[in-house]
Amino acid sequence: MIERLAGLLKDRFGRAPRLYIRTYGCQQNVADSQRIRGLMHLYGCEDASDENDADVIVFNTCAVREHAEDRVFGNIGNLKNLKRQRPEAIVAIGGCMVQQQTVADTIRASYPYVDVVFNTNRISALPEQILDLIEKGKRQIVPVCDRYTLNEDAPVLRDGESLRAFLPIMYGCDNFCTYCIVPYVRGRERSRTPEAIEKEFRECVAQGYKDIMLLGQNVNSYGKGLEEDIDFPKLLRRLNAVEGDFVIRFMTSHPKNATKELFDAIADCEKVERHIHLPVQCGSDRVLKAMNRHYTVEEYLGLLDYARSVVPDLYVTSDIIVGFPGETLEEYEETVDLIRRAGFYAIFSFIYSRRPGTPAAEMPDDTPHGVKADRLNALNEVQRLVTAEIEERQIGHRYRGLCIGSAGEGKSVVRLSSNGEVTADGTWPVNEFCTVEVTDYKNRRLFGRIIENA
Ligand code: SAM
Ligand code: SF4
Repeated sequence: MIERLAGLLKDRFGRAPRLYIRTYGCQQNVADSQRIRGLMHLYGCEDASDENDADVIVFNTCAVREHAEDRVFGNIGNLKNLKRQRPEAIVAIGGCMVQQQTVADTIRASYPYVDVVFNTNRISALPEQILDLIEKGKRQIVPVCDRYTLNEDAPVLRDGESLRAFLPIMYGCDNFCTYCIVPYVRGRERSRTPEAIEKEFRECVAQGYKDIMLLGQNVNSYGKGLEEDIDFPKLLRRLNAVEGDFVIRFMTSHPKNATKELFDAIADCEKVERHIHLPVQCGSDRVLKAMNRHYTVEEYLGLLDYARSVVPDLYVTSDIIVGFPGETLEEYEETVDLIRRAGFYAIFSFIYSRRPGTPAAEMPDDTPHGVKADRLNALNEVQRLVTAEIEERQIGHRYRGLCIGSAGEGKSVVRLSSNGEVTADGTWPVNEFCTVEVTDYKNRRLFGRIIENA
């Protein structure tokens, strides 16, 4: 089939087909796009610099918040002209958004210039759909959620530009937080085998990646359903033992599955960075229950206490949702209070976005959007002070970090174990580790200098 489709594509475009992938949303989508790219390169595709230069245009979409979906629809609309001028161009849409039947139906009915809707949980079917499109002359809009795979048969092709390698260790989510669309569009949790992960991990190291991030919607439930005696802490230890000079990060950890063993593993593994993203979502026990999160505020804080007792230099970041349906002013204030108590290094904060089909979408929500926006701003202001306090404490200290670029005029940007960045005096080879001393904190940025003979 490879030769057949490669030949058809070449004939259609009169050249090696040019591929452009536009990726929305989270790191998981970035990782999926690298598999789509790897797959399409097998069929002779080369990279295009933008949509106008492309023959095959792929949108890898996100559905987590309404705003993301609006952007995608806007950008799909922009392809209308392109298809008018070049009807032979192929437009394919995948990702979480089109895993919703209503969205797939809208595309079928109102966006006739979209040729293919493909299943993000079975990326390897994309070439076959393109083949059918060309041979049968019929649009290929697959039924959603038809089959879930581990995408092992789609070879990964990283862009080589980003210094961080994203490595999925599992797909899907079983948690059904009541606000979240992910379990509906990504399907049930399924873990890759430790062998497949370690193989890809070693390839990343061999390719020169020094910052490798393991990905999953809830990495702490990694291993469920596998025959091997493996869980996430064991996987971390196994990858930490791979020889080479690199660091390991991971995302995302659900607090209900974060165990003492996880923090013990972080403490023991020198290549695992001192940073954990541990989304708490809110600071009210009632709202946490309504969100189906399965922990209380005190349990969460207890977890942080244990984590910091075994990894004293741990940096914790978190996600916060403001304005969950029915959240009162007092409950919002409990979240602000939690932010003061938890000592987060940074947060990603969002206004609740109603996702049709989720339980929370049916809950009464009478707080006006403007009020929620004001609350979000006020909460971010509190976090800004907490972040500033943490970063100011770094002044005068030396850290190991990865040089990730130049900041011009004899300066470098260095990423620390905390995942924070320092603009440092001194030049250093990009993608090499160095020692940096933090000397200042100004305008929400860390400054420092590279220590040449550390
Ligand atoms: N699985 C991860 C977890 O549970 O932390 C993250 C997945 S989700 C893509 C990333 C973040 O988006 C969540 O932690 C949550 O804060 C936010 N999010 C998810 N659904 C949302 C919604 N309906 N409205 C606003 N924010 C949402
Ligand atoms: Fe969504 Fe919750 Fe699963 Fe994260 S754990 S993807 S927030 S359902």
